[in-house]
Amino acid sequence: MKEIQLSIDGKKVKVADGSTVLDAIWKADIYVPTLCHDPSLEPYGGCRLCIVQIMGMRGLPTSCTTPAQEGMVVFTETEELQRVRRTIVELAICNHPNECLSCSKNQECELLKIANYLGIRQSSLEDMRRRKQARAQDTSNPAFDFDPEKCVLCGKCVRTCNEIVRVGAIDFAYRGYNTTVSTFSSQPLVLSACQSCGECADRCPTGALVNKDVRPHEKEVKTVCPYCGVGCPIILGVSNKRVVRVRGDGEAAVNQGELCVKGRYGIDFINHPDRLIRPLIRKENIPKERGRVGPLDVFREADWDEALERIAQTLSATIDHHGTDAVGLLSSAKCTNEDNYIFQKFARASLGTNNVDHCARLCHASTVAAALAAFGDGAMSNSISDIDEAEVMLVIGSNTTECHPIIGRKIKRAIKERGAQLIVADPRSIELTEMSEIHLNHLPGTDVALLNGIMQEIVKEGLHDQTFMSERCEGYEDFLESLERYDLKTVEAATGVSREKIHRSALLFAKDHKRAIVFYGMGITQHTTGTDNVKAIANLLMLTGNLGRRGTGFSPLRGQNNVQGACDMGALPNVYPGYQRVDDPAVKAKFEKSWGKHLSKKAGLTVTDMFRAAHEQRLKALYVMGENPALSEPDSDHARAALSKLDFLVVQDIFLTETAQMADLVLPAAGFAEKDGTFTNTERRVQLLRKALESPGQARADWQIITHLSSRMGYSMSYTSSAEIMAEIASLTPIYGGIHHDRLSESGLQWPCRDREVP
Ligand code: SF4
Ligand code: SF4
Ligand code: SF4
Repeated sequence: MKEIQLSIDGKKVKVADGSTVLDAIWKADIYVPTLCHDPSLEPYGGCRLCIVQIMGMRGLPTSCTTPAQEGMVVFTETEELQRVRRTIVELAICNHPNECLSCSKNQECELLKIANYLGIRQSSLEDMRRRKQARAQDTSNPAFDFDPEKCVLCGKCVRTCNEIVRVGAIDFAYRGYNTTVSTFSSQPLVLSACQSCGECADRCPTGALVNKDVRPHEKEVKTVCPYCGVGCPIILGVSNKRVVRVRGDGEAAVNQGELCVKGRYGIDFINHPDRLIRPLIRKENIPKERGRVGPLDVFREADWDEALERIAQTLSATIDHHGTDAVGLLSSAKCTNEDNYIFQKFARASLGTNNVDHCARLCHASTVAAALAAFGDGAMSNSISDIDEAEVMLVIGSNTTECHPIIGRKIKRAIKERGAQLIVADPRSIELTEMSEIHLNHLPGTDVALLNGIMQEIVKEGLHDQTFMSERCEGYEDFLESLERYDLKTVEAATGVSREKIHRSALLFAKDHKRAIVFYGMGITQHTTGTDNVKAIANLLMLTGNLGRRGTGFSPLRGQNNVQGACDMGALPNVYPGYQRVDDPAVKAKFEKSWGKHLSKKAGLTVTDMFRAAHEQRLKALYVMGENPALSEPDSDHARAALSKLDFLVVQDIFLTETAQMADLVLPAAGFAEKDGTFTNTERRVQLLRKALESPGQARADWQIITHLSSRMGYSMSYTSSAEIMAEIASLTPIYGGIHHDRLSESGLQWPCRDREVP
C-alpha cells in the first residue's frame, strides 16, 4: 500500500494513503483530546476537540475527519487550539454534576482526563451553570444506568448502536438546548428495543452511561466467553477474589472487542453463593426421585478421599458384575478440550468402554456425520471473517442475532455496509428476516425438499459450477439426476413456499457466481432428518462451487462454547480425538500404544442409547461431567425415569443441577474462570482460557478430578498442567498436531494445524 509522509509538531511520520490526520497524530505518539472518536466507528467530528492547525489551510479542521496528505505540516497544541478546546470543554462540562469522586466512571472518565489536560477547574464554571438538574436518570436497565446530566452529546453511544450493533435503540431527541440521548418515545431503556449489550456504555467517555455495581479491579485476565460457539475473547476484571467487570478484547480476531449481553453481563454466576464447594454423598435410603424437594438435605458432605474411593469401588464392582459396557459417561461441551480429552481417555483406557458422548448428539452430531461424509471434516469450512467478503448469505434454521449475536451483527453489517444480500429460510420471522431479500417460511421438516428445489432451479438455469464439480466432486451425475424429482410444483406443495420465491432464491444464490455462505443452526440439525438436512447444504455449496474461497463456505453455528472442541477431543462413542475411528485397526493400535491399554473396537452408546439402556436397566452406572440431561433431554420425563433406575449416578458440576439432585454422588468442579485450558469455537479456533480466580471451597478442575479417580482405579494418569495434556493431544491428533499452549497467546490457532510450522 502506498505510504505518505506528514510532519506532526515537527515529527516526521509515515502513514498509509487513505489515513486521517488523527491516524497520523496517533502514529506519531502525540496526544490530542477526543470525546467522540472511536476507531471502530465512522469519523464524526462532533466533539471538535481533535482540531488542529494545518499549514496552508484555513480554520481549525477536526483531525478525525481530515484526510492525511503528502507533505502536510500539522500542529496539534498551539495557543489558539488550546483556547478553543478549553471553551468547548467548559461548555460541555458546565452543567456536569460536580461529583467526580463518587462517579462510577471515576478514573476512566475521558472528560475528566481532558479537563485536567486543559487545566479546567469545576469552580471556574459556576457562573455558566444551569440552576437545577432537569433530567431524570434512567436506571431501568438491569445492566447499566443512563444519567443525562453527565452526557456531553458526543454521540458515541448513538453511533455505536447504529453502526456496530445495528439496533438503533437510541438517538438524539429534543434538538436544541434540551438535546439528549433518548430511546424511541422516551421509553425507559428496559422497555425499548435496547438489547442490553452494553457496547454503548463501554464506549461512553463520561459517567453518563455506566455499568451498575462497578467496582475497581486489581488485575485483568484475558480468557474466553463461556456461553456460545462464537468464542469471544473476554477480559475479566478481578478484585478480592471476585469477577467485578468484563470487557471485550479489542485485539481479538473473533470479535474485535465486541460482546453481547451474555458475555458482558452474564458472568456473575461464577461468584454465586450456590456454587458447589465440597463433595456430596446421598444419604442412605433417600429415593432419587426426590429431586427438587429440599435438594441439599438429601446429601451429606464428604471429603475428596471418601468420595473418590466410593466412586472407584462402585464403578469397579459394576464392571466386574455387568461388564464394561454397563457404564456410560457424558462429557461436556462447556468444559475445556483438556477436560474432554482426559474424560474420554478415562472412559476408554481406564474403564474400557467407548460409551462416551455429550450434548452434541442432540445438536450438531448431524453436522459432524454429514460433514465427515461430504468433506471429510466435521466442522465449519471457513472463518467468521469470511462474512466480510460474502456477497450472498443463506441463513437456515438459525436465529443468529439471538443465539450467536456477534456473528448476527457481522451479517447485519455486511448487508448494510457492503450491500450483501440475505435469504432467510425459517418457518418463523426472526430479526434477520427484516433485512432479507427473500424469506422462505417453509413448513417445519421440509428443509431437504426446499434446498433440493432451489438446487434443481439452479441446475435448470445453468447456474451450477460444472468446473468445480468435475474437478472436485464425486458422484455428481447421480446427484444431478436425483434432483429431477424436485420440480417447482412438487416443492411448492411439500414446503408451502411459492414457486416464485424458490426460483428467485436460486437466482439470488447462484447467479454470476457470487461468493456465498450458508449459515445454519439447530433449527435444521435437531431433526430426525438432521444429517440429511446438513448434507443438502453441503450439496448446495458444492453445486455452486462455494467452498475453499474467501467469502464462501459451510457454516454450522455451534451452540455451546466448546461443543466443537468436545467433538474434536473424541467425546463421541465412535471416534477418538480428531475423528479417528475406534474401529480402524491402525488408529486403535496407535492409541493402545500411547495409552498402554487394550482398547475396545466396538463403537459405544450414544446419549440417546444410554438413556434407553438405563431405562431398560442394561446401563447400571452413569458418570456425568458438566451436563444436565434431566433438564436438557428432549423428553425430560423419560430422562428422569431413566436416571432414577440407575444403580449409580455421579455428577461433576459447578452447581447442584437437576441431574445432580438425582445423583448418588456429586463432585464440585472449577468454573471456566478458575482454570487454564482451551476452548475451540465454531470456526475451529483453539483459544486459551486463563485462570483468573481460585475455585471456591474444595472445587477442582475437571481433568484433575478425573486423573485422581483414574489413578485410584489402577490406571495412572499424571499431568502437571493442561498444557501438558494439550501436548499429548497434539501427538495423537493430526488436525491438532501443531497446537500447543505456547502458540495460542495471541488469537489462537485454527485447525487443521498439523505441526508447529503451520500458521
Ligand atoms: S451518553 Fe455518553 S456516549 Fe452517549 S452521547 Fe452522552 S456522553 Fe456521548
Ligand atoms: S446496550 Fe446495546 S442495544 Fe442497548 S442502546 Fe446500548 S448499544 Fe444499543
Ligand atoms: S456472542 Fe457468544 S461468545 Fe460472544 S459474548 Fe455473546 S455469548 Fe459470549
